[in-house]
Amino acid sequence: EPAGARLELSDLHVGYGGAPVLHGVDLVVEPGGILALLGANGAGKTTLLRTLAGFVRPSSGGIRFGGLDLAARSVEDRARLGIAQVPEGRSVVAELTVEENLRLGALRLPRRERAAALAGAYERFDALARRRSSFGHQLSGGERQQLALARALVTRPRLLVLDEPSLGLAPKIVAQLFGVLRDAAEQDGLTVLLAEQNVTSALSIADRGVVLHLGRVVADRPAAELAADPDLRHAYLGF
Ligand code: ATP
Repeated sequence: EPAGARLELSDLHVGYGGAPVLHGVDLVVEPGGILALLGANGAGKTTLLRTLAGFVRPSSGGIRFGGLDLAARSVEDRARLGIAQVPEGRSVVAELTVEENLRLGALRLPRRERAAALAGAYERFDALARRRSSFGHQLSGGERQQLALARALVTRPRLLVLDEPSLGLAPKIVAQLFGVLRDAAEQDGLTVLLAEQNVTSALSIADRGVVLHLGRVVADRPAAELAADPDLRHAYLGF
């Protein structure tokens, strides 16, 4: 199966019970690219990610992935198409070991490919290799986030969607986590949509950045350009 494909949202309108949150969002993530989705709390980042997963239905607009119209597909279909989520909050199973958590992720793969997928995860995340028999609840915040990312990656996704993976982690841990994410995107060629409030770190690994403000795209530019624009940072990103 080919890795990353193109993701395209067009004129996406989403709301909750008639209260609109996204007012006509357009964005594209190129195959193999990392897009940083930026914006203050309440901008609508999480709503956008939940719409992609199929948890929330858009009131109008298009979602296309690899040429397929996703808007009409179920949550299960989207997962089957290789859309993997790393939701906010480092959700790993606390009562299972690192290895068991990864095995759960690998269930999506044909049986004969599972061992290699786990070995690949341990190669990439050496902290997890050392902790393979530890339970989820014994891990540090950084290790738990690595496990959440590793578990998503062992499913061999074509599109990886992450919601604020850096939240609450020390800068050094964030740098390491994002380094692994960058390598994984490059090596596996998967498409990545990274919602973050940690603007500097996100833009350091992204190809492009999109700034959401009150449910509208107010900037869509190469990451390096966004990082170098203090006016934009002041206006929308709060620093
Ligand atoms: P994050 O929490 O990741 O920073 P975000 O703050 O950018 O994400 P959302 O969580 O998408 O944005 O919230 C956007 C707006 O939608 C907010 O005003 C929020 O109150 C509202 N909202 C979010 N979820 C719901 C819901 N289930 N029902 C009603 N309103 C909601």
